[in-house]
Amino acid sequence: MSTTCIGCGREIAAERADLGYTYCTAPACQAEYRRGPTVTAVAVNKSGDAFRVAEPDEVAARAAAGEFATKNTGLGTVPETVPRIPTPRRPRAARPVRKARPTWTPAQEKIVRLYAEMGLSPRQIAERARQNTPRLAVTEALAVRILSAPRR
Ligand SMILES: [Zn+2]
Repeated sequence: MSTTCIGCGREIAAERADLGYTYCTAPACQAEYRRGPTVTAVAVNKSGDAFRVAEPDEVAARAAAGEFATKNTGLGTVPETVPRIPTPRRPRAARPVRKARPTWTPAQEKIVRLYAEMGLSPRQIAERARQNTPRLAVTEALAVRILSAPRR
């Protein structure tokens, strides 16, 4: 690659030569060899390129300065913030419905139902049970609970 100006023969800056220029920045050479404005596609995002009419080196300089990356130039640049992917919420484990467990013993239920079938009221059941089977500790309230519960 030639690094000398095709117009005046002077050395062209390396950056400029890298950009493909074959002429220097001297006004005379610019006037003679500069073609029309170069349309440069600046890749600013993935969905589409923003087209700017500018000299390639100007664009390169701006890009190097971070202009296209950080500033919204109104040319379709993408905001820096990346949409946060929502963390999948762990499905709440359905709490197993605990079956209402009777708080009395089969022996208690047996005696209460036995007395109930004899026509005793819960109060009478409790009194009878206290006399006959005190260790079962059947109370009136318990008798009511047992008799109001569905038969197992
Ligand atoms: Zn020149």
